[in-house]
Amino acid sequence: MAGNDRCLFCRIANNELTAKKVYEDADVIAFEDINPQAPTHVLLVTRKHISSLDELTDADAALVGTLLMRAAKLAHDLHLGDGYRIVVNTGDNAGQTVFHIHFHLLGGRSFGWPPG
Ligand code: AMP
Ligand code: ZN
Repeated sequence: MAGNDRCLFCRIANNELTAKKVYEDADVIAFEDINPQAPTHVLLVTRKHISSLDELTDADAALVGTLLMRAAKLAHDLHLGDGYRIVVNTGDNAGQTVFHIHFHLLGGRSFGWPPG
């Protein structure tokens, strides 16, 4: 089995746990966040297990670029043309709880700045 068998998002990527998938391809899957913080709240994850932004290497540059581009494409496919936010919590102080890299795609409401 690919990935880390104790990792929640690897298990979703491997179809061992169910999620409401909204997009998938060879490199990336996207599914609805179980605890949405906006009318649209989708998580985009790499199929490859990478624990956080801090673990990226140059070999992952194209993959992470793809992840970001898929997030932007999905934002438009989900009709978030009025604006959306992509968030990558990294480390404990930022509130990262799942240690498999993921981009939060949030939309469908306005967002404050600075963020909380
Ligand atoms: P973070 O706190 O940035 O690591 O984000 C982890 C996100 O994963 C949170 O927004 C959770 O609501 C979400 N989450 C946790 N378990 C699941 C699950 N089984 N399916 C979908 N989203 C989940
Ligand atoms: Zn993983």
